[in-house]
Amino acid sequence: MLSIVSIIFGALIGSFLNVCIVRLPKEESIITPGSHCPHCKTPIKFYDNIPLVSYLLLKGRCRYCKESISVQYPLIEGITALSSLFLFMRFGPSLSFLIYFAFVAALIVITVIDLYHQIIPDVISLPGIGVGLLASLVLPQFTFFDSLIGFLLGGGSLFLVATLYQWLFKREGMGGGDVKLLAMIGAFLGWKAVILTILLGSLVGSITGIIIMVLKGKDFKYAIPFGPFLSLGAVIALFYQNEILFWYLRYRG
Ligand SMILES: [Zn+2]
Repeated sequence: MLSIVSIIFGALIGSFLNVCIVRLPKEESIITPGSHCPHCKTPIKFYDNIPLVSYLLLKGRCRYCKESISVQYPLIEGITALSSLFLFMRFGPSLSFLIYFAFVAALIVITVIDLYHQIIPDVISLPGIGVGLLASLVLPQFTFFDSLIGFLLGGGSLFLVATLYQWLFKREGMGGGDVKLLAMIGAFLGWKAVILTILLGSLVGSITGIIIMVLKGKDFKYAIPFGPFLSLGAVIALFYQNEILFWYLRYRG
């Protein structure tokens, strides 16, 4: 029963995340005005704004102008709903659930904005660092010291890589947004998970980069955003860091 509540809760928040994804890069208010069709500007009635359900009922089209609604909306609602369910199954009805759900929600917004615009908004990552550090004071999973080292390690290591890259190749390879994102991840997950995030993010990022280069014939100058891979690494670390660490220690030899 509570699992169903967590899915509905996730879908509702997902609907709000869509608003953030569309409006934050344009520096618009995420509160007013209410939702409206981006094509014909007609305000969307509450009964046409039910996460997932309305998209299906309207068959993906605006009720008024019949212009198709971006599949991004139900996709984000669905992903957020599933994230909420999985986090609920892991942490139960607890403060940990709420804090980690807020963290994953921030990663979802960052990932989609980075994919569209190649930027990671400071309005998410900077307050995120503060929330992560404060959260460590109430979370049973790790200590403030873990969180602080995670923040310094996450931000510091990428800052070093970015500076070195710029010095070697005389151009920017990694944005400051990635540095702040990894600092936020470190503050939320602690130092062990931030190391895992860097490893996983780089691994999946390079494999994807190589595939894109082979398929599209583009060279290394074709920058792919790193934020989505760091976010993915962070979510894997959040759920499976103990399992991965256990597996590593067991099979090391
Ligand atoms: Zn319309």
